[in-house]
Amino acid sequence: MRHEFGEHGGVNMSIETSTTFTVLDAETMPEIFQGQHGPDTGGCYLYGRHFNPTVYVLGRQIAALEGAEAGYCTASGMSAISSVLMQLCDSGDHIVASHTVYGGTFALLKEYLPKKAGLAVDFVDATDLDAVAGAITPRTKVVYVETMSNPTLRVVDLPRLAELAHAHGAKLVVDNTFCPMVVSPLQHGADVVVHSLTKFINGASDAIAGAICGTSDFIMSLMDLHQGSLMLLGPTMDPRVAYDISMRLPHLGLRMTEHSRRAQYFAERLEEQGLKVTYPGLPDHPDHERLSELGNPGYGYGGLFCIDLGTAELANRFMELLQNEDRFGFMAVSLGYFETLLSCPAASTSSELAPEDLAAAGIPPGLVRISIGYTGSLEQRWRQLEDVLKQLGLGESQRAG
Ligand code: PLP
Repeated sequence: MRHEFGEHGGVNMSIETSTTFTVLDAETMPEIFQGQHGPDTGGCYLYGRHFNPTVYVLGRQIAALEGAEAGYCTASGMSAISSVLMQLCDSGDHIVASHTVYGGTFALLKEYLPKKAGLAVDFVDATDLDAVAGAITPRTKVVYVETMSNPTLRVVDLPRLAELAHAHGAKLVVDNTFCPMVVSPLQHGADVVVHSLTKFINGASDAIAGAICGTSDFIMSLMDLHQGSLMLLGPTMDPRVAYDISMRLPHLGLRMTEHSRRAQYFAERLEEQGLKVTYPGLPDHPDHERLSELGNPGYGYGGLFCIDLGTAELANRFMELLQNEDRFGFMAVSLGYFETLLSCPAASTSSELAPEDLAAAGIPPGLVRISIGYTGSLEQRWRQLEDVLKQLGLGESQRAG
């Protein structure tokens, strides 16, 4: 996309903070309301909850990143997800969703949307195409998946899922939060991509934000004055946040490459030592080949890996030592930060799942999710991690017997 210069020729774009915009002649006002002079058709703006110029630039940048025709940004990843689902489905419609998605998304699909919007949702193992096909009904409007599931790191077969959804007139909606740069789902048949920008894309854990990418028609429909879920539900991104995130996009590629390089290194070394590691970059991961095929060359297999320590007690002790004694990382939810973040999904980001849902999704109580940072040297970080393993008698094939 073309570079966006500032108002006075600055190399960086200006921030448009105004919530309302003047017109020179009164005749223009109804035309703007009828959508005749939007950001791409005459460049007239209406009101800050409708398109904002700075937020629109970030939307175009995220769209370029995903190879989408258009994009727009929202106040959070959750609002991007809920707005897309509300836009694509009417009351009585049906969604087929992966049974392993972020806990907030799971609760939205399992509890909130059925109760508040009259949607029916069935959860399936999205890596099992027969299960997905079997769950589709004549009312299915959306097949909903994460590129790489949170926290089990399973990678879905995007081209086959897109074929299945399209054969039944449904849209494939993909949450690509775990894999920016690494995978471009729209290039593999997805119709809509959503992101929590809060994670890798912003990268500094200092903003909650989301994005939606798809066709121009779809993005425009979200702002429809009568039926647009962004316009009417109003999860508006602040332009100052849009500016800050935009300034971090130029180094997203470098960051993702380094997150992936470090995750690969740790996953390999931990596996060598006999620990139960899940990382799609390991050849024994069930979706290693799939991600090798779908992934964009050079960005690796993502910045997250998991270790199953067997019990919640051991997982907690492991995380406490890593944070409080060795300063390896922080015990905190979220991901995609420059520092390492450690969490136990069964007790945190997936705690919305009932015990039977956790079991179906394959999330054991002792699973530790690690979003690997890139501060400090790799060798220093490995020494910190190894020190904690030794203290707990883990690794080197459980300390040789
Ligand atoms: N999607 C995924 C995969 C997530 O992990 C999260 C949050 O952890 C979200 C969406 C929600 O994003 P946000 O917190 O920006 O609303």
